[in-house]
Amino acid sequence: TRVLGIEGTAWAASAACYDSGTDDVFIESDAYQPDSGGIHPREAAEHMHDAIPRVVETALEHARETHDGPETEPPVDVDERSSSGQQAAPVDAVAFSRGPGLGPCLRVVGTAARALAQSLDVPLVGVNHMVAHLEIGRHTSGFDSPVCLNASGANAHLLAYRNGRYQVLGETMDTGVGNAIDKFTRHVGWSHPGGPKVEAAAEDGEYVDLPYVVKGMDFSFSGIMSAAKQRYDDGVPVEDVCYSLQENIFGMLTEVSERALSLTGSDELVLGGGVGQNARLRAMLEEMCAQRGARFHAPEPRFLRDNAGMIAVLGAKMYDAGDTLALEESRVNPDFRPDQVPVTWRADESD
Ligand code: ATP
Repeated sequence: TRVLGIEGTAWAASAACYDSGTDDVFIESDAYQPDSGGIHPREAAEHMHDAIPRVVETALEHARETHDGPETEPPVDVDERSSSGQQAAPVDAVAFSRGPGLGPCLRVVGTAARALAQSLDVPLVGVNHMVAHLEIGRHTSGFDSPVCLNASGANAHLLAYRNGRYQVLGETMDTGVGNAIDKFTRHVGWSHPGGPKVEAAAEDGEYVDLPYVVKGMDFSFSGIMSAAKQRYDDGVPVEDVCYSLQENIFGMLTEVSERALSLTGSDELVLGGGVGQNARLRAMLEEMCAQRGARFHAPEPRFLRDNAGMIAVLGAKMYDAGDTLALEESRVNPDFRPDQVPVTWRADESD
C-alpha cells in the first residue's frame, strides 16, 4: 500500500509518501517560523496555503519516481492506466490530519487533501493527529500494546489501547507541555520554539525550587510556569530556571507514565510528540522503564515533531482496514480527541 500523507495542524506544512511494502517513509516539510511571539493561527494558515502545494508536489514526485521506476525502464504497461487513459495514481490513498489543531490551518489542509484525492481518483483517509503521534511509535518499535506518552506542543497525555479505542489515562489539566515551555521562553525573550533553547540552557543549571503538580493521573503546568517566570524576574539565573523546569515537568510526566504502566500491566512505553526530542525527558523515561523491567522506545526525531510521515503510516493502516472517508463527511475537527477514534486497524486483536 502506498499513501500520500499531509500534515498541517499547527506549524509544520508537511507531506509524505509511505510504501508499506518497503516501509520507506519519504517526508518533505516546511516549518512556519513566527517573526515574533508564538504561533499566530492566521499567519500559520497562510504558511500552509503557500507551502502545502510545494511539499505535496515533492512527495508526489518521490511517489511517481519510486512507483514508475527509473526513466530508463520501459513505459508503464497499458494495464496500469485507468479507463480514462490517465496514468495510474502513484498512491492508493490520500491521508490528512483532521485534527486536533488550529482551525484555519486544518481547513487549508483539508481542502488540499480533498482536491488531491479527487484529482488522483483515490480514497481519502482522515487521521487523528494525536493517534498518529502514538501509532508511529508502535510502528517503529514493533511493540505489541504499549502505553504511549504524547508530549507535544499543544498536548500532553498518556494513552493506552482498550476496548477498541485509545483511552486517555491521564492528561494535562491546562496547557500542552511544549506550549507551557514556549510561554516561559517568550517571557525571557527567546524566539519560538523555546524547547530546544531550554534544553541547551539547562546543561549549565542547578536546581531551584519550583512547583510540582500531579493529581492522580493528571498534571498541571500553569503553576510551575508562573513560578518560573517569577524566579527569572527575581534574578535567578535563567540556566537554573531552565534546569529546574525540565527536572519538574519531565519528572511529572515520568511519574504519570510509570503509574500508567502499573495500571495497565503493560511493560512497553513509547514516546511521541515534539517535546520527545528532549534528551533529558528520554533519559528519565528510559531509567524509569529500566528500573521496572519495561521496554522503552522513542522514534527518531523526524517522527517525533509534527510530520506527515506519521500521517501516511497510520493512513496506510486505516486504508488497509477499509477505514476511508466520504468527501462529504470529511470536515476537519480542531478538538478531535484521540478517544473519539474507533481503532479499525487493530480490529483483529482481542481487547
Ligand atoms: P501537537 O502535536 O500537540 O499539535 P505541535 O503541533 O505544537 O503539537 P510538536 O511538533 O509535536 O507540535 O511539538 C512542538 C513543541 O516541541 C514546541 O513546543 C517545542 O518547543 C517543543 N520542542 C521541540 N524540541 C524540543 C526539545 N529539544 N526539548 C523540549 N521541547 C522541545
